[in-house]
Amino acid sequence: MARRTIEREAALTGAGLHTGASVTVTFRPAPAGRRVVFRRTDLPGTPEIAARLEEVEATDRRTVLGHGDEAIHTVEHALAAVGALGIDDLYIDIDGPEPPALDGSFKPWFDALQGAGERMQEGDPVVFRVLAPFTVTEGGSSYVVSPAGSGRVTVAIDFQHPLIGSQAGSYEVTAEVFARELAGARTFGFVHEVDGLKAKGLIQGASPANAVVLTDTGLVEGTVLRWPDEFVRHKAADLIGDLTLIGGRVQAHIVATRPSHQGNIALARAISRTGQREGGIAMDIGRILDIIPHRYPFLLVDRIIEIEGRKRIVGIKNVTINEPFFQGHFPGHPIMPGVLIIEAMAQVGGMLVLGSLVEMNEEKVIYFMSLDKVKFRRPVLPGDQLRFELEMVQFRGKTCKMRGVAYVDGKVAVEAEMMAAVVDR
Ligand SMILES: [Zn+2]
Repeated sequence: MARRTIEREAALTGAGLHTGASVTVTFRPAPAGRRVVFRRTDLPGTPEIAARLEEVEATDRRTVLGHGDEAIHTVEHALAAVGALGIDDLYIDIDGPEPPALDGSFKPWFDALQGAGERMQEGDPVVFRVLAPFTVTEGGSSYVVSPAGSGRVTVAIDFQHPLIGSQAGSYEVTAEVFARELAGARTFGFVHEVDGLKAKGLIQGASPANAVVLTDTGLVEGTVLRWPDEFVRHKAADLIGDLTLIGGRVQAHIVATRPSHQGNIALARAISRTGQREGGIAMDIGRILDIIPHRYPFLLVDRIIEIEGRKRIVGIKNVTINEPFFQGHFPGHPIMPGVLIIEAMAQVGGMLVLGSLVEMNEEKVIYFMSLDKVKFRRPVLPGDQLRFELEMVQFRGKTCKMRGVAYVDGKVAVEAEMMAAVVDR
């Protein structure tokens, strides 16, 4: 099974449900292992917020990722389409704090992503399997998770309302089922809640055009349900959206009773803790960013593809003409500076040393002490893929010695021995 991204860009524009701000969301293809990442293109430096559990900030009526002014509200509808289509790597560029509500359903998201085509890429998708059944209870929500060969959600809700009452449905998590049974289901709310939610700063952009609004006995004027059980269908799709925050595909049968965003997140955390994680890439860029402090334009590692304890590591750097150093090195004759190849090699080595320390929550950085036996064997040009293989020769106290080789197309480009010191951050 290959990882999946989209073939070309797709964009959607409209007002957010809770914030009411007008925004454009642009889906863009992302490289293998990048996972799903939101980027706030309206803010200086285009901060990135990974679609994963560590970034979940609030779950009051919606799922919020990121912190403070950089947060993104109500991500679950776009993410449900991502989950249903089994997309592993994707940029979601957004020029405001909340994706547009559109018609309140998942369909515009699903259609846009499906219309963007699919592109298979290297590496295996991350899959979470459940080995034994377990339950999760959070507030009024409860979940039973059981092993299964594929993903399925079964959802039951009950509301004291003549149009809702008790509803239940069971859906396989596939693009076909999602398109047919769930995508069109809209979010819903009650007239009697409107003032309270508005006072809390929520649903500023809500209207019968982007939500099913219920009165005490029926629907507000002009609203027609798409299915009598549209409500439970919407909850099932919300659950699929929240589950994508695990960072992989979930192979389990989930039975959810009165699911909520808060409950869904607690469930996702439980699956990510207890599930068996398979596939993926040893360390994708998200994990690399967690471990080493380097950032653009000085982050020179794209991916770690093999790691053996503290003994050996293999990392990849794809060199493109867009690298900032090609602007001046040299115009018309671009060639990667040898010292930057050494720097990239040192960053991969840093991952080998720091990776194990980060597991223990130690805040460290690594400094170069010496370089030896450096040989530049051949030039590295735009379009080359650098493959760094490093071995630990010695690790004593706070200093270590590594031997590294950089390959392009299986041929040695650079080799070096390096000594480094681990110091407090
Ligand atoms: Zn929803």
